[in-house]
Amino acid sequence: MPLLLGCIADDFTGATDLANTLVKGGMTAVQVIGVPTGPLPEADAVIIALKSRTAPVGEAVAQSLAACEALLAAGAKQIFWKYCSTFDSTDQGNIGPVADALLKRLGSGFALACPAFPTNGRTIYLGHLFVGNALLNESGMENHPLTPMTDANLVRVLGRQTDGAVGLVPFTSVEQGAAATRQAMMRLAEQGRRYAIVDAVTDQHLLAIGEAAAQHALITGGSGVAMGLPENFRRAGLLPARGDAASLPPMQGMAAVVAGSCSRATLGQIGLARDHVPVLELDALATPDAAALTAQALDWVEGKLAADRPVVIAASAPPEKVAALQAKLGRDAAGALIETAMAAIAEGLVARGVGRLVVAGGETSGAVVQRLGVTALRIGPEIDPGVPWTFAEPRGLHLALKSGNFGARDFFLKAFDHG
Ligand code: ADP
Repeated sequence: MPLLLGCIADDFTGATDLANTLVKGGMTAVQVIGVPTGPLPEADAVIIALKSRTAPVGEAVAQSLAACEALLAAGAKQIFWKYCSTFDSTDQGNIGPVADALLKRLGSGFALACPAFPTNGRTIYLGHLFVGNALLNESGMENHPLTPMTDANLVRVLGRQTDGAVGLVPFTSVEQGAAATRQAMMRLAEQGRRYAIVDAVTDQHLLAIGEAAAQHALITGGSGVAMGLPENFRRAGLLPARGDAASLPPMQGMAAVVAGSCSRATLGQIGLARDHVPVLELDALATPDAAALTAQALDWVEGKLAADRPVVIAASAPPEKVAALQAKLGRDAAGALIETAMAAIAEGLVARGVGRLVVAGGETSGAVVQRLGVTALRIGPEIDPGVPWTFAEPRGLHLALKSGNFGARDFFLKAFDHG
């Protein structure tokens, strides 16, 4: 199975989101964690997940180029540079500088830039990015601690991050479909523009943009604009019709959830689980020690593991308890304590026969994946929007990594109805 689409993502959950979109479009997809050191796994699409969103520019560029090299060596026909649907970046980068470096490496002079994701309320009209009903710079993103977005005009925002010229493919062209969009992009390229911000308000627009970019060496954007790409490869006869792109090896072993997310959705999911399955809520304020918390959890789990329903182990707590632990230890130390404990608990659970594990929390997921030595995630069926089951290599374990606010209230129960 030759590699078709090679993707570079600037963060972990963004990579999963993109992989999930491609699988839903009928491509097999594997997410690789960090710049790969060995051969790439077999799949129609490989998504290399970096942590480069807020890294120093030089580091982000170097990592992205190394990832690109690995993808090209594996035969990738097209490269996709994935960033956040709210265009998270600063005037220094990293979206523009990485795109510049990738274009240069690919010997190309033009790429589109489209972070739109209408399903999640991210739309672009006349180059302005909206989050729900609000302009980007009035959406709360203007207060982001690392990448404050104070300008909604993406032509200007990207323009500050590159020495190339940035143009716009307006709604009126995209609305006419793929051919008109392709022509509008070609005109901009002929006029010497290096980038085109492309308007998109609906999924139909994203599909048209994807089709229009079939011949582009590099596509840049959010996961939404990848919706149209599987069809390009099918049309070119490169991608067979796959009914089974999301199929994973059969699930085995015991079921468990570890939660280190204190987001509202996760707290609700734990609340519902309490009425149905064994739930342990750790009290880090009473026991501010990772090894002791781990021992408590692994003692408690004794005799409770089952294959047909999960046990839930949660450090999650409401805001006032989180604030109390942070006041006692400091914010970073409190987070690190819980992340260390949850990762050690996950490892202990796997050693006790857990083969299907849900992890709640983005940072918590990062800690667990690192502790388990996972290098790649094969993407399987979606449990709830944006959260697929995955098969973790080389552990041979089913993992679902849920970013805090994702998933319906019954997520922790529903996840184990799959498979
Ligand atoms: P989310 O995806 O909801 O943001 P994360 O795992 O990314 O979840 O972040 C949650 C952070 O809160 C982690 O650093 C975790 O260690 C920390 N945390 C979890 N439980 C507590 C708690 N009871 N007190 C303080 N911090 C906590």
